[in-house]
Amino acid sequence: MDDEFLEHNPTVEPHVGYKKVLVTGGAGFIGSNVAEYLLNRGDDVVIVDEMNDYYDVKIKEGNLKLLEEMVEGQEGRLSIYKGDICDEAFMLDVFEKERPEWVCHMAARAGVRPSIQDPYIYIHSNIRGTTNLMELSHKFGVKNFVFASSSSVYGGSSSTYFSEEENVDNPVSPYAASKKACELLSYTYHHLYNLNVSALRFFTVYGPRGRPDMAPFKFIDRVSRGLELQQFGDGSSSRDYTYIADIVDGIVRAVDRPHPYEVFNLGKGNGTSLKEFIDLVQKHVGKKANIKVMPDQPGDVPYTCADVSKAYRLLGYKAKVPFEEGIRRTAAWYKEAYEKERIPVCPETQANGLG
Ligand code: NAD
Repeated sequence: MDDEFLEHNPTVEPHVGYKKVLVTGGAGFIGSNVAEYLLNRGDDVVIVDEMNDYYDVKIKEGNLKLLEEMVEGQEGRLSIYKGDICDEAFMLDVFEKERPEWVCHMAARAGVRPSIQDPYIYIHSNIRGTTNLMELSHKFGVKNFVFASSSSVYGGSSSTYFSEEENVDNPVSPYAASKKACELLSYTYHHLYNLNVSALRFFTVYGPRGRPDMAPFKFIDRVSRGLELQQFGDGSSSRDYTYIADIVDGIVRAVDRPHPYEVFNLGKGNGTSLKEFIDLVQKHVGKKANIKVMPDQPGDVPYTCADVSKAYRLLGYKAKVPFEEGIRRTAAWYKEAYEKERIPVCPETQANGLG
């Protein structure tokens, strides 16, 4: 069987045709990109987002505005609910009104380092919120529950090439532990109620509309503005960075192909060193970085690289955008958005988040 054949013939046939999809966290980076893709192909989308201030809420408002403009004048294509997924009465009301059969759960408190400072909010929002959604999903007969996990669950694993089938998970931050807890609970819901669940372990996602606390956005922003760039470690650490269009493709493939219970890596499948990353940012921004070398940060994982063979086998997923091309597109987007002042600049004090 050749690659082309497999790509179009994963083990589970996709569900084709119209869907109404609940996208939690739909005002955020990944959720808004998923919502955009689904609306474009003709699905209806229900968004739930609490619009928290983890980063500037104007960015989230901008994301929602883009989506609203896409379906202007088209009744029922997009419903937006602003509220907390942990709020049981609020979420029950959303399910009663909307009756979504497909759930794409992207809402979470994200960020490794801030979770060390404030673990409680991560445990509450991520674990309680996910449990609330799964409880409602089984009660309302949801056909497929797909949710965002994270490569951070691998944590201090001894290997550098992470396989969801072979690695032992060693989460080393409250954020990572909250994601692992959600995976365990989702297995419980599958076991008890036959809820179809796919947990997707994303590997550092970047691209246009990217999170301002994360390294790809921060590096482009700081080099563009001639500000000091903090480089944690000697530059040899290496990560698997996934371009947003590839992650959206993987998410939608998982939504379309319900599996009883699976955990999938979604990454690019190879790593880029921090040094190479900074070199590419300088090249595509067209300015030299003012680098300050800092010690390694607790909770960070020095090397991540996704084994994506399972996602390829079962979903037909394969990342297509090379890292340099992704950085080129992100820098071009930043330049346009920044010059039009559509994006507020990111806080000076936050460290470079990794996922
Ligand atoms: P994001 O912060 O841009 O989006 C998350 C959205 O969820 C935000 O708009 C936020 O307001 C909302 N939210 C948070 N808690 C909520 C709650 N209790 N109720 C309702 N809404 C809530 O983050 P993102 O980068 O788009 O991440 C999306 C998902 O992917 C998250 O689950 C994150 O943990 C996961 N993830 C992201 C990356 C990455 O590289 N961006 C890597 C691994 C995993």
